[in-house]
Amino acid sequence: RFDAELVAVTKRYGHGAPAVDAISLRIPRASYCCLLGPSGCGKSTTLRMLAGHEEVSDGAILIHGAEITKAAPVARGTSMMFQDYALFPHLTALDNVAFSLKVQGVSKLERRARAREYLQLVQMDHLADRLPNQMSGGQQQRVALARSLITRPKVLLLDEPLSALDPFLRIRMRAELKRIQKELGISFIHVTHSQDEALALADLVVVMNNAVIMQAGTAREVFETP
Ligand code: ADP
Ligand code: ADP
Repeated sequence: RFDAELVAVTKRYGHGAPAVDAISLRIPRASYCCLLGPSGCGKSTTLRMLAGHEEVSDGAILIHGAEITKAAPVARGTSMMFQDYALFPHLTALDNVAFSLKVQGVSKLERRARAREYLQLVQMDHLADRLPNQMSGGQQQRVALARSLITRPKVLLLDEPLSALDPFLRIRMRAELKRIQKELGISFIHVTHSQDEALALADLVVVMNNAVIMQAGTAREVFETP
Protein backbone atom coordinates (compact mmCIF):
# COMPACT_ATOMS: atom_id res chain seq x y z
CA ARG A 1 0.00 0.00 0.00
CA PHE A 2 1.12 3.50 -0.84
CA ASP A 3 0.53 6.87 0.80
CA ALA A 4 0.88 8.64 -2.55
CA GLU A 5 1.08 7.57 -6.18
CA LEU A 6 1.76 9.68 -9.24
CA VAL A 7 0.82 7.97 -12.49
CA ALA A 8 2.33 9.57 -15.62
CA VAL A 9 1.67 13.06 -14.26
CA THR A 10 2.33 15.91 -16.68
CA LYS A 11 2.09 19.67 -16.27
CA ARG A 12 2.13 22.08 -19.19
CA TYR A 13 1.95 25.75 -18.36
CA GLY A 14 1.83 27.00 -21.94
CA HIS A 15 3.00 25.60 -25.25
CA GLY A 16 6.71 24.68 -25.17
CA ALA A 17 8.21 21.85 -23.11
CA PRO A 18 6.22 20.56 -20.09
CA ALA A 19 7.33 21.65 -16.58
CA VAL A 20 6.69 18.08 -15.40
CA ASP A 21 6.78 15.35 -18.02
CA ALA A 22 4.87 12.10 -17.36
CA ILE A 23 6.43 11.32 -13.98
CA SER A 24 5.44 8.19 -12.09
CA LEU A 25 6.26 7.63 -8.45
CA ARG A 26 4.99 5.48 -5.60
CA ILE A 27 5.56 6.52 -2.02
CA PRO A 28 5.20 3.62 0.46
CA ARG A 29 3.35 4.06 3.75
CA ALA A 30 5.00 6.33 6.34
CA SER A 31 7.92 7.42 4.16
CA TYR A 32 10.14 10.44 4.48
CA CYS A 33 10.58 11.36 0.83
CA CYS A 34 13.01 14.06 -0.30
CA LEU A 35 12.51 15.55 -3.75
CA LEU A 36 15.84 16.85 -4.99
CA GLY A 37 17.08 18.56 -8.13
CA PRO A 38 18.31 21.81 -9.68
CA SER A 39 16.24 24.97 -9.82
CA GLY A 40 13.54 24.86 -12.48
CA CYS A 41 13.44 21.04 -12.79
CA GLY A 42 9.78 20.82 -11.71
CA LYS A 43 9.92 20.10 -7.94
CA SER A 44 7.55 22.86 -6.80
CA THR A 45 5.16 22.18 -9.65
CA THR A 46 5.02 18.53 -8.57
CA LEU A 47 4.33 19.54 -4.97
CA ARG A 48 1.65 22.04 -5.99
CA MET A 49 -0.09 19.41 -8.13
CA LEU A 50 -0.09 17.04 -5.12
CA ALA A 51 -1.56 19.84 -2.96
CA GLY A 52 -4.20 20.71 -5.56
CA HIS A 53 -2.83 24.23 -5.96
CA GLU A 54 -2.04 23.53 -9.60
CA GLU A 55 -4.11 21.56 -12.09
CA VAL A 56 -2.69 18.38 -13.59
CA SER A 57 -2.52 18.46 -17.41
CA ASP A 58 -2.35 14.67 -17.75
CA GLY A 59 -2.08 11.62 -15.52
CA ALA A 60 -3.44 10.72 -12.07
CA ILE A 61 -2.66 11.28 -8.40
CA LEU A 62 -3.73 8.83 -5.69
CA ILE A 63 -3.59 9.24 -1.91
CA HIS A 64 -4.09 6.05 0.13
CA GLY A 65 -5.21 4.37 -3.09
CA ALA A 66 -7.98 6.87 -3.83
CA GLU A 67 -7.80 9.03 -6.92
CA ILE A 68 -7.78 12.72 -5.95
CA THR A 69 -6.40 14.21 -9.19
CA LYS A 70 -9.19 16.78 -9.41
CA ALA A 71 -10.27 16.99 -5.76
CA ALA A 72 -10.26 20.33 -3.92
CA PRO A 73 -7.14 21.03 -1.80
CA VAL A 74 -8.99 20.40 1.51
CA ALA A 75 -10.43 17.09 0.27
CA ARG A 76 -7.19 15.40 -0.80
CA GLY A 77 -5.66 14.18 2.46
CA THR A 78 -2.66 16.44 1.85
CA SER A 79 -1.47 19.55 3.61
CA MET A 80 1.26 22.00 2.67
CA MET A 81 3.76 23.71 4.94
CA PHE A 82 5.35 26.86 3.56
CA GLN A 83 8.92 28.02 4.14
CA ASP A 84 7.95 31.58 5.06
CA TYR A 85 5.71 30.35 7.94
CA ALA A 86 2.79 32.55 6.79
CA LEU A 87 1.27 32.78 10.27
CA PHE A 88 -1.55 35.25 10.89
CA PRO A 89 0.16 38.14 12.75
CA HIS A 90 -2.89 39.02 14.88
CA LEU A 91 -3.53 35.46 16.13
CA THR A 92 -1.78 33.64 18.99
CA ALA A 93 0.11 30.40 18.37
CA LEU A 94 -2.93 28.45 19.59
CA ASP A 95 -5.39 30.33 17.36
CA ASN A 96 -3.07 30.06 14.37
CA VAL A 97 -2.97 26.29 14.79
CA ALA A 98 -6.73 26.01 15.41
CA PHE A 99 -7.64 28.21 12.43
CA SER A 100 -7.98 25.57 9.70
CA LEU A 101 -10.40 23.61 11.89
CA LYS A 102 -12.61 26.69 12.20
CA VAL A 103 -12.95 26.69 8.42
CA GLN A 104 -13.95 23.01 8.67
CA GLY A 105 -16.68 23.83 11.20
CA VAL A 106 -15.14 21.99 14.18
CA SER A 107 -16.49 23.22 17.56
CA LYS A 108 -14.46 25.74 19.53
CA LEU A 109 -13.84 23.35 22.40
CA GLU A 110 -12.50 20.65 20.11
CA ARG A 111 -10.46 23.14 18.09
CA ARG A 112 -8.65 24.34 21.20
CA ALA A 113 -8.08 20.82 22.50
CA ARG A 114 -6.66 19.66 19.19
CA ALA A 115 -4.54 22.79 18.78
CA ARG A 116 -3.03 22.12 22.24
CA GLU A 117 -2.29 18.54 21.23
CA TYR A 118 -0.48 19.64 18.06
CA LEU A 119 1.39 22.45 19.85
CA GLN A 120 2.58 19.77 22.25
CA LEU A 121 3.72 17.61 19.35
CA VAL A 122 5.99 20.43 18.11
CA GLN A 123 7.00 21.35 21.69
CA MET A 124 5.37 24.77 21.62
CA ASP A 125 2.56 24.27 24.16
CA HIS A 126 4.33 26.55 26.66
CA LEU A 127 4.08 29.44 24.16
CA ALA A 128 0.45 28.91 23.12
CA ASP A 129 -0.54 32.52 23.88
CA ARG A 130 2.33 34.23 22.04
CA LEU A 131 1.78 36.27 18.90
CA PRO A 132 4.04 35.53 15.91
CA ASN A 133 6.13 38.69 16.50
CA GLN A 134 6.87 37.41 20.02
CA MET A 135 8.35 34.18 18.66
CA SER A 136 11.73 33.35 17.10
CA GLY A 137 11.93 32.12 13.52
CA GLY A 138 12.34 28.53 14.68
CA GLN A 139 9.35 28.83 17.01
CA GLN A 140 7.19 30.30 14.23
CA GLN A 141 8.19 27.42 12.05
CA ARG A 142 7.10 24.90 14.69
CA VAL A 143 3.73 26.64 14.91
CA ALA A 144 3.42 26.57 11.11
CA LEU A 145 4.17 22.85 11.21
CA ALA A 146 1.49 22.25 13.86
CA ARG A 147 -0.94 24.29 11.79
CA SER A 148 -0.34 22.15 8.71
CA LEU A 149 -0.69 18.89 10.69
CA ILE A 150 -3.86 19.64 12.65
CA THR A 151 -6.08 18.66 9.71
CA ARG A 152 -4.51 15.16 9.99
CA PRO A 153 -3.12 14.90 6.47
CA LYS A 154 -2.09 11.52 5.11
CA VAL A 155 0.74 13.26 3.27
CA LEU A 156 2.47 16.47 4.39
CA LEU A 157 4.07 18.55 1.63
CA LEU A 158 7.04 20.75 2.56
CA ASP A 159 8.57 23.23 0.11
CA GLU A 160 12.14 23.94 1.29
CA PRO A 161 11.01 24.09 4.93
CA LEU A 162 14.50 24.67 6.35
CA SER A 163 15.95 27.21 3.94
CA ALA A 164 14.91 30.29 5.95
CA LEU A 165 16.65 29.07 9.12
CA ASP A 166 20.21 29.65 10.27
CA PRO A 167 22.53 26.60 10.06
CA PHE A 168 22.20 25.71 13.76
CA LEU A 169 18.40 25.82 13.77
CA ARG A 170 18.30 24.01 10.47
CA ILE A 171 19.95 20.93 11.99
CA ARG A 172 17.60 21.03 14.98
CA MET A 173 14.43 21.44 12.92
CA ARG A 174 15.62 18.72 10.59
CA ALA A 175 15.71 16.27 13.50
CA GLU A 176 12.29 17.51 14.63
CA LEU A 177 10.77 16.94 11.21
CA LYS A 178 12.04 13.38 11.17
CA ARG A 179 10.82 12.70 14.73
CA ILE A 180 7.35 14.06 13.99
CA GLN A 181 7.04 12.16 10.72
CA LYS A 182 7.91 8.90 12.48
CA GLU A 183 5.64 9.67 15.43
CA LEU A 184 2.59 10.37 13.21
CA GLY A 185 3.36 7.53 10.81
CA ILE A 186 2.36 9.61 7.78
CA SER A 187 4.46 10.45 4.71
CA PHE A 188 6.34 13.70 4.27
CA ILE A 189 7.35 14.90 0.80
CA HIS A 190 10.09 17.46 1.33
CA VAL A 191 11.46 19.54 -1.54
CA THR A 192 15.07 20.59 -1.07
CA HIS A 193 18.21 21.67 -2.91
CA SER A 194 20.36 20.09 -0.25
CA GLN A 195 21.91 16.67 -0.62
CA ASP A 196 22.83 16.83 3.10
CA GLU A 197 19.19 17.26 4.03
CA ALA A 198 18.17 14.33 1.86
CA LEU A 199 20.92 12.17 3.35
CA ALA A 200 19.85 12.99 6.90
CA LEU A 201 16.12 12.63 6.38
CA ALA A 202 15.04 10.53 3.46
CA ASP A 203 13.78 6.97 3.37
CA LEU A 204 13.19 7.67 -0.31
CA VAL A 205 15.26 10.11 -2.39
CA VAL A 206 13.76 11.24 -5.68
CA VAL A 207 16.04 13.17 -8.03
CA MET A 208 14.42 15.26 -10.75
CA ASN A 209 16.08 16.97 -13.68
CA ASN A 210 14.52 18.65 -16.68
CA ALA A 211 10.91 17.76 -15.75
CA VAL A 212 11.56 14.03 -15.28
CA ILE A 213 12.64 11.70 -12.48
CA MET A 214 16.26 10.69 -12.97
CA GLN A 215 16.61 8.43 -9.92
CA ALA A 216 14.52 7.16 -7.01
CA GLY A 217 15.74 4.99 -4.16
CA THR A 218 17.34 5.03 -0.73
CA ALA A 219 19.94 7.74 -0.09
CA ARG A 220 22.54 5.00 -0.33
CA GLU A 221 21.35 3.83 -3.74
CA VAL A 222 21.03 7.34 -5.12
CA PHE A 223 24.20 8.94 -3.76
CA GLU A 224 26.56 6.00 -4.11
CA THR A 225 28.88 6.62 -7.01
CA PRO A 226 28.93 3.60 -9.31
P1 ADP B 1 11.69 23.91 -9.19
O1 ADP B 1 10.71 23.90 -8.05
O2 ADP B 1 12.38 22.62 -9.38
O3 ADP B 1 12.64 25.07 -9.12
P2 ADP B 1 9.37 24.66 -10.79
O4 ADP B 1 8.39 23.58 -10.62
O5 ADP B 1 9.18 25.90 -9.99
O6 ADP B 1 10.84 24.08 -10.54
O7 ADP B 1 9.44 25.07 -12.31
C1 ADP B 1 9.51 24.13 -13.37
C2 ADP B 1 9.39 24.87 -14.71
O8 ADP B 1 8.07 25.40 -14.83
C3 ADP B 1 10.34 26.04 -14.85
O9 ADP B 1 10.75 26.11 -16.19
C4 ADP B 1 9.47 27.22 -14.48
O10 ADP B 1 9.92 28.39 -15.11
C5 ADP B 1 8.11 26.80 -14.99
N1 ADP B 1 6.99 27.37 -14.20
C6 ADP B 1 6.81 27.21 -12.86
N2 ADP B 1 5.69 27.83 -12.45
C7 ADP B 1 5.15 28.40 -13.56
C8 ADP B 1 3.96 29.20 -13.82
N3 ADP B 1 3.11 29.50 -12.83
N4 ADP B 1 3.74 29.59 -15.08
C9 ADP B 1 4.58 29.27 -16.08
N5 ADP B 1 5.70 28.53 -15.92
C10 ADP B 1 5.99 28.11 -14.69
P1 ADP C 1 -6.87 4.91 5.72
O1 ADP C 1 -7.18 5.86 4.61
O2 ADP C 1 -5.77 3.95 5.36
O3 ADP C 1 -8.08 4.22 6.26
P2 ADP C 1 -6.98 6.91 7.76
O4 ADP C 1 -6.86 8.20 7.06
O5 ADP C 1 -8.35 6.42 8.12
O6 ADP C 1 -6.24 5.79 6.91
O7 ADP C 1 -6.10 7.00 9.09
C1 ADP C 1 -6.16 5.99 10.09
C2 ADP C 1 -6.23 6.66 11.47
O8 ADP C 1 -5.07 7.49 11.68
C3 ADP C 1 -7.45 7.53 11.66
O9 ADP C 1 -7.99 7.29 12.95
C4 ADP C 1 -6.92 8.94 11.57
O10 ADP C 1 -7.65 9.83 12.39
C5 ADP C 1 -5.49 8.80 12.08
N1 ADP C 1 -4.60 9.78 11.45
C6 ADP C 1 -4.33 9.90 10.15
N2 ADP C 1 -3.48 10.90 9.91
C7 ADP C 1 -3.19 11.45 11.12
C8 ADP C 1 -2.38 12.54 11.57
N3 ADP C 1 -1.67 13.30 10.72
N4 ADP C 1 -2.35 12.82 12.89
C9 ADP C 1 -3.05 12.09 13.75
N5 ADP C 1 -3.83 11.05 13.40
C10 ADP C 1 -3.92 10.73 12.11
